[in-house]
Amino acid sequence: MTTPRTVLISGASVSGPALAHWLHRAGFAVTVVEKAGALRGGYPVDIRGTATEVIRRMGLWPWLRQAHVGPRRATFLDAAGRTVASLRAHAGQSEPRDLEIRRGDLADALYGLVRDDVEFRFGDSVSAFAPAAHGVDVTFRSGRQDTYDLVIGADGMHSATRAALFGPEDRHHRYLAYCFALFTLPNPGRLDRELVLWNAPGKAAALYATGDGPEVHGFLTFHRPEPPRDALRDPAAQRELVAEVFAGEGWEIPRMVAAMRDTDDLFFDTAGQIRMPRWTQGRTALVGDAAYAPSFLTGQGTSLALSGAYVLAHALAAHRDHTAAFAAYEDRMRPYVTANQALVDEGGATLFPVTARALEQRDARLRTLDTLPDARPRPAHTALTLPDYEERPASSSGATRARPVR
Ligand SMILES: Cc1cc2nc3c(=O)[nH]c(=O)nc-3n(C[C@H](O)[C@H](O)[C@H](O)COP(=O)(O)OP(=O)(O)OC[C@H]3O[C@@H](n4cnc5c(N)ncnc54)[C@H](O)[C@@H]3O)c2cc1C
Repeated sequence: MTTPRTVLISGASVSGPALAHWLHRAGFAVTVVEKAGALRGGYPVDIRGTATEVIRRMGLWPWLRQAHVGPRRATFLDAAGRTVASLRAHAGQSEPRDLEIRRGDLADALYGLVRDDVEFRFGDSVSAFAPAAHGVDVTFRSGRQDTYDLVIGADGMHSATRAALFGPEDRHHRYLAYCFALFTLPNPGRLDRELVLWNAPGKAAALYATGDGPEVHGFLTFHRPEPPRDALRDPAAQRELVAEVFAGEGWEIPRMVAAMRDTDDLFFDTAGQIRMPRWTQGRTALVGDAAYAPSFLTGQGTSLALSGAYVLAHALAAHRDHTAAFAAYEDRMRPYVTANQALVDEGGATLFPVTARALEQRDARLRTLDTLPDARPRPAHTALTLPDYEERPASSSGATRARPVR
């Protein structure tokens, strides 16, 4: 019997645990290291098109289908807080085509699937790695040292793995001229599976209740031609910047800004994409946002992360030679990533118009509707054919192992 190949994955959010699941099923020995001390939550995320098939193949559809959220009503307000349009969602189909899941629920589901099969190390991270004769030597912040056959960066938009391999983020980051802050705050008491979106030119504020619970998601976003570099690594400066941009605005905004100042779950970032000519080098590779973040304006970050994890694991299982595997991963993912990153221009224009004229035009369209426009499936959402695995017994005990079908 051959010794299993060892893989270190950096990042335990979406792409990391999904990749861990598929690699474990293919017989790899997997370790996941996560900088944070525990799994983290966040705003609801979308799982669409091909990624829903990945979820089905993981056996998670029944569970996540129960966790599916989605507003029953969306109300759009103008800068004075007056209603522009209040639109009902279409009567729900018995089975949703796509899913909208609280990020924390998705992370829990993915982690729950692999926690017993894969070693997770929370509260640690890679401090250095170097190519060795037949693997990669890794030193962790905790002081621990190990050698792995392969190292995969699933460490998100601001990936340290990417910086170590391919240089500073500036080289790969395409800034999309918006900043945003996400946090939770007490439900004003009347919102139940409902989205309320306030717009002024270049600014938006949203309250999103995924249920009728005591908390809602708060979202503040604004247009900014240049990235606020100083604020990116400084949570106090982020809070100041957001408060300054929204100072003097009405509706619920003063309460939202006060909550944002107090919260311990603030997630602040710029809208941006990661665009790279290659995602792999030597015995290392990137997956998910670390490699090809499409930005929240496309709503496709989670779907690319799930699909990318599947394709990378399949390629590594199908090719003993990692160079061939990485080439197969890049080839299959590239057109899908390109198509999804190209969706970005539509998202910003619809939800967060920058000029008064664009906002007036958007509002005029909304006034003609009484139900939310059905989120049309885009060709980009399904622009990937998943390769297949077939199950075969891995041992005399009858345990199954997934074998890729090329
Ligand atoms: C806290 C948080 C909240 C988010 N909230 C939202 C949201 O509300 N809506 C939305 O659409 N998207 C959100 N995102 C982004 C969204 O989750 C991703 O676009 C998508 O799911 C892709 O997943 P990913 O696993 O590739 O990357 P990410 O989800 O970004 O996960 C990267 C993981 O790597 C970890 N990490 C980072 N650096 C290191 C390191 N050096 N060593 C070890 N681990 C590291 C991070 O803690 C994180 O767990 C959020 C991301 C984070 C980290």
